[in-house]
Amino acid sequence: MTTSHYIAGRWVEGQGSDCISVNDPALGQPFAELMAASAAQVDQAVAAARGALPVWKATSASERAGYLRGFAEQLGQRREALIGVQMRNNGKPRHEAEIDLDDAIATFNYYAELAEQLPSKNREVPLAAPGFTARTRLEPVGVVGLIVPWNFPLVTSAWKLAPALAAGCTVVLKPSEVTPLVEQAYGQIADALSLPAGVLNIVNGKAETGAALSNHTGLDKLSFTGSNNVGSQVMRSASAQCRPVTLELGGKSAIVVFDDCDVDQAVEWIVAGITWNAGQMCSATSRLLVQDSIADALLPRLQATLEKLRVGNPLTGEVDMGPLTSQAQWLKVASYFATAREEGLQCLAGGKALDRDGWFVSPTLYADVPNDSRLWTEEIFGPVLCARRFATEEQAIAEANDSRFGLVATVCSADLARAERVADALEVGHVWINSVQAVFVETSWGGTKGSGIGRELGPWGLSAYQSVKHVTRCLG
Ligand code: NAD
Repeated sequence: MTTSHYIAGRWVEGQGSDCISVNDPALGQPFAELMAASAAQVDQAVAAARGALPVWKATSASERAGYLRGFAEQLGQRREALIGVQMRNNGKPRHEAEIDLDDAIATFNYYAELAEQLPSKNREVPLAAPGFTARTRLEPVGVVGLIVPWNFPLVTSAWKLAPALAAGCTVVLKPSEVTPLVEQAYGQIADALSLPAGVLNIVNGKAETGAALSNHTGLDKLSFTGSNNVGSQVMRSASAQCRPVTLELGGKSAIVVFDDCDVDQAVEWIVAGITWNAGQMCSATSRLLVQDSIADALLPRLQATLEKLRVGNPLTGEVDMGPLTSQAQWLKVASYFATAREEGLQCLAGGKALDRDGWFVSPTLYADVPNDSRLWTEEIFGPVLCARRFATEEQAIAEANDSRFGLVATVCSADLARAERVADALEVGHVWINSVQAVFVETSWGGTKGSGIGRELGPWGLSAYQSVKHVTRCLG
C-alpha cells in the first residue's frame, strides 16, 4: 500500500473509498495498491493551494525560475527510477521512457527561462489619448486544478506544472488512476527543494476524485488532458462557475503521403506515428492517406514492417512496442478489431490481441477503409492504422479535414512548396512536414475542433496561467 497524496507539504494516506490497483501491463498483474483521496482531502488540497497563493505569487519570477531549474535537475537525479516505473506501469520501451523523462526536464528548464524574462514583459502601453499612462501586469490566474491521463504521465504533468508554477499559480494535480506512481516524483522533488507548503499538491483517485476537483468552487481555473467524454463534463463544471478551462482532448489525425516520397522513409514515419507508445497517443497519425500512384508499392512494405516489429515486455528484452497500458484499453482496442470484422474491412496486418499474458495486441493495418467506418472516424488509442487512397492534393486536404477532431497531421512529400501549402490548409493545431511526432517545447501543443480549447507549451503555455491586468493612470 503506497502513501501517495501530497497535501500542504505532507504525505498522507488516502481516505477515499476506492482502492487503486497499479498494474504491470506486460504481465496483466498488479504490483502496488493505494487508497484514493476522499472529497475532504481534495478540499484540503485546494485550501492548501489557496493558502499558499499569496506567498508564491509574491516571489520574484527569478526565484520561481530557480525552483523550476531545481525540478529539472532533480528529475535528472531520479533518472533510472523514473524510467523504470514508466516501463513497468505504462509498458513503455526503454528508449520511449527515456525520451519522456528528457521532455519533462526540457519543459521545466524552458519555463524557468521564460520566468526569468517575465519582469521585462511588464511594460508601458503607448496610448494615443493624451493625459494618461498605462502599464501591463501579467498576474497568475490563481489556484489551478490539473487533471491528466495515463499515456504520457510525466510529460503531460510537466507541461502543466512548469508553466503554472512559473506564472505564480499554486496547483492541485490529479494524476490518472492507471499510472499514479510516476508523478509522485513531483511531490518528492517539492520536498527536496523545500518548495513552500501548499504550492504543489497531488491527490490520487479515479473519476470521483477528478470530479471532486473539477467541481470544486475553490479553483480559479482547470486544465484538463484526457478523453472528450470527460472533457465535456469538466467543461460543464467550468461553465457552471464561469471560470476558464484548458482542454487537451482526443484526435484522429491524418498522415498524408504523396507519390514523390521515398517509400522506405515514408513507411518509417507512418510506423512511428501509429506504434509509438503502442499507438496510445492523442496525436497518433491513425488515418493514412496515400496517393494512388504510390499505394501499391507502399502498402505491402508497410505491412511487412508492421509484422516484423518486436512486441513484448520492455523489462525483459529490447522491444519496438510494449503492451497497451490498461486492461480497459486492451478490451477497447479488441472491440474495434471485432467491429472491423463486422464491417468486413480488409486487414493487411494484425487485427488481433496476442495470445499471451499481458495486454498485448499486434500492430494493425486496414486498407481501403470506407470513410464512414467507425475505425476511420473514431479515436481508437492503440496501434491500429486505417488507410485510404487519394488522387489529388485537393482530395487529400478534404479527406484529412473531414474529421470532428483537429489535433495534428503529418505531410510527407519531396515537393516542399506543396507540403507547406497542404500544411497551411489542414485544420489542426500542429503539422509535421517530413517528420513525425517531433514535439519541441518552444512550439505550441493543442488542437482545433473537437481536440480541445487552448494551447500548451511555448509562450502560449505560460499565458494559459496568466491573467492580464492594466493599470491606467490619469496624469492630470
Ligand atoms: P480520461 O478522460 O478517461 O481520464 C483523464 C483524467 O480524468 C484521469 O485522471 C481520470 O481519472 C479523470 N477523470 C475521469 N472522470 C472524471 C470526471 N468525471 N471528472 C473529472 N476528472 C475525471 O482519459 P484517459 O483514458 O486517461 O486518456 C486518454 C484520452 O486522453 C484520449 O482521448 C487521448 O486522446 C487524450 N489525450 C489528449 C492529449 C492532448 O494533448 N490533446 C494528450 C494525452 C491524452
